[in-house]
This record gives sequence, structure tokens and C-alpha cells, in this order.
Amino acid sequence: MNLELSEEQTAVRRLARDFADREIAPYAADWDRAESVDRSIVKKLGDLGFLGLTVPEEYGGSGGDHLSYCLVTEELGRGDSSVRGIVSVSLGLVAKTVAAWGSEEQKREWLPRLCSGEALGCFGLTEPGAGSDAGSLTTRAVRSDGGGAYVVNGSKMFITNGTWADVVLLFARTGDEPGHRGISAFLVPADSPGLTRREVRGKLGLRGQATAELVLEDVRVPASSMLGPEGKGFPVAMSALAKGRMSVAAGCVGIAQAALEAAVSYAAGREQFGKPIAGHQLVQELIADISVDVDAARLLTWRVADLIDRGRPFATESATAKLFASEAAVRAAGNALQVHGGYGYVDEYPAGKLLRDARVMTLYEGTSQIQKLLIGRARTGVSAF
Ligand code: FAD
Repeated sequence: MNLELSEEQTAVRRLARDFADREIAPYAADWDRAESVDRSIVKKLGDLGFLGLTVPEEYGGSGGDHLSYCLVTEELGRGDSSVRGIVSVSLGLVAKTVAAWGSEEQKREWLPRLCSGEALGCFGLTEPGAGSDAGSLTTRAVRSDGGGAYVVNGSKMFITNGTWADVVLLFARTGDEPGHRGISAFLVPADSPGLTRREVRGKLGLRGQATAELVLEDVRVPASSMLGPEGKGFPVAMSALAKGRMSVAAGCVGIAQAALEAAVSYAAGREQFGKPIAGHQLVQELIADISVDVDAARLLTWRVADLIDRGRPFATESATAKLFASEAAVRAAGNALQVHGGYGYVDEYPAGKLLRDARVMTLYEGTSQIQKLLIGRARTGVSAF
């Protein structure tokens, strides 16, 4: 693997960094307090092509490789994890999954709108009673109209972009087989009659992001809205999450990088015992630990992008990157807060928000425990699930 970025990759990273510095970071604290990012950010992300990275241009995407996608995701995460999450879900979990599994009609219907930011997608897997054990979900889609449609009933929990989305990539049980075998995936327009959405407020972090509970009561969808073959919804979901974890990892690198920059800047300006605290060895230790976490998390993330772009298996490496980077982001933000002393504990400085935003990364798209079970299964050949 060549760790030297190409000219295109360098340019897209600069574009994303300038955008995040200008259009995101200055507003992130206000959006956090208001519990909503400014929705106009979606169109700006679309205009720059950030919602269509890696999606073929013939479907309105901006093409590009997965390393470019990681670079952009990192920079957005460095600016505000809530904005990064909009892209990771609408592009990473939804549009890329439509591109991989969709019929020609589904690609033409959804991809141009998702890639431009005209429409947003959300990923409806988790339910109130089915989190880590997603295969136990109970939302049910029953055939009706002589097979021409399905009627869906159930509920989904913690759905990112939930109240903003135009389309839900929804996972529902269509067969009587137990566990993950009877699940199918559907593309459900969010304005479908019978689909209601309730925003989840009061989150510890990612407060600017619209997270929702979805309730489906007799929601009628045409049979043609099924994504992928009937009964293959679980592989659809797992393939989306395998790539999605790389995006979460890249976002974590962004958080850790922001923590590093905040810690270095504060340590240079704050004086104690007659000199800048940057000159105290134990403060340097905190900063060195953040720096190592940034580098290690970034390299693990880039490895996944490299494997995907070369068509190689990447799921275990993606779980590895997600596990390490999410824990590293929490550590890095905590260390940055420590460098700030008491000032790190108030929201005038960014460290507290970074820590709150980092914390969820060890929970969603599979908790750290679930990543360890995935890695353990790959190494031992024995499933602990
Ligand atoms: P549980 O599964 O109940 O886990 C509770 C604890 O038990 C955890 O520590 C877990 O690691 C542990 N545990 C469970 N099983 C095992 C096991 N076999 N071995 C060891 N430990 C175990 N979901 C979506 O579908 N779409 C989204 O867009 C989305 N966005 C989210 C946004 C936010 C802000 C949050 C908080 C969650 C989001 N989620 C989303 C849901 C997220 O993926 C789940 O919360 C996560 O998978 C964990 O499920 P759970 O919360 O039900 O916890």
C-alpha cells in the first residue's frame, strides 16, 4: 500500500478541510446547544459531491475511491461529528447499499437524489428489543394485494437522520424462518402513510443530529421496493455495516485529530509553574498518547479503504478499525480534556463536546463487544453469537 496520497486525494482532502473549517466548525457548538445542525448543510454537502463519493457517476455520484471517502469523512468528523454522521448514514449505509444491491429502477429512482442531497436516507435496523442481536428483529412485512405489495408493522429505534430522511432502508421479517434468515430489506419512502417519526432528544453527544424512533402501522409498500432478494435482508444489512464501520472509524480519526489540535493549542497558551504547560513532561505524555492514537486509528482505517478498492475481503479489518478508532477517539478526547484542566469541563472549549460525540462511536454500528466477537470469530473460526 502506498501511503502517499495522490493529487486527487490531496485535493479532495483540502476541499473537505476548508469546507469543515469554514462551514461546520464555527457553528458546531451552537448546533450542539440547539440540538440541531442547520439543515442547509445537506445541500452544501451534496453540491461538493460529498454525498455521492464512490457512487458511479452514471447514477449521479461523484465516483472516487474509498480512501477519498475516508479523507472526507475524517475532515467532516474533525469539524462536527453530527455532520459527519449525516454523510456516513445517507451515503455510507444507504446510497452505497442501493448501488450495490439495487435494481436498475431503484438506482435510477434514489441515487441521483441521495447523491445531490435533494433526498436523505436513513438505515432502519435497530428496534427497541433488537440491538446487538439485530437478527431477532420483529418488524414484519406481510404480502398483500396478491403479492404486489407488502404491509409493514413494527418500530425502529435510534435511527440517525430519522426525522430528516426521505427514504428508509428498512429491515423487516418476511418469512417464518427464525433469526436472520427470514429478513428482507425495503426502500420505504419516509412520507408513506402509517409511518410516524419521533425525535430522540437529550442525547449525550451527536446532539446536532436528528435521531428518531420510527413507528410503522400498516405501511403499504410495493413489492418492487424490496432491495435485494427476499430473505437476504440480513446479508444486505451486514454488507452495509461492514463498509459503514470504516466510515465510523474515519469519523473517529477526525474526532481524535480535533482533540490533538485542541490540546496542542491550549497547552501552548496556558502557563503554570512559570512556563507553558506544553513544556511539562506529563502534559507532553497526554499529547503524545493522543498523537499515537490518531496515527494508529488512521492507518487501520486507510487499510480498510485500500482493501475495498482492491476488491479484497475487508470485514474483519473494518471491525478492527472501528473497534480501535472508536476507543481511541474516546481516549483522545479524554486526554485533550485533561490537558485543558478545569477549562476542559466547560463548553467554551471543544474537548467536552469531542468526548461526548466520541462516546457513541463505541456503541453504534456494533458495540465494541460485538466488534471483538466478530474479530474473535474470524481468528478462531468459532462463533460466540
Ligand atoms: P444492546 O444490544 O442491548 O447491548 C447492551 C450491552 O450488552 C452492550 O454493552 C453490548 O455490547 C452488550 N452485549 C450485547 N450482546 C452481547 C454479546 N453477545 N456479548 C457481549 N456483550 C453483549 N441503529 C440503526 O439501525 N440505524 C441507525 O441509524 C442508528 N443510529 C444510532 C444513533 C445513535 C445516537 C445511537 C445511540 C444508536 C444508533 N443505532 C442505530 C442503534 C445502535 O446500533 C445500537 O444502539 C447498538 O447496536 C446497540 O444495541 P442496543 O442499544 O440495543 O444495546
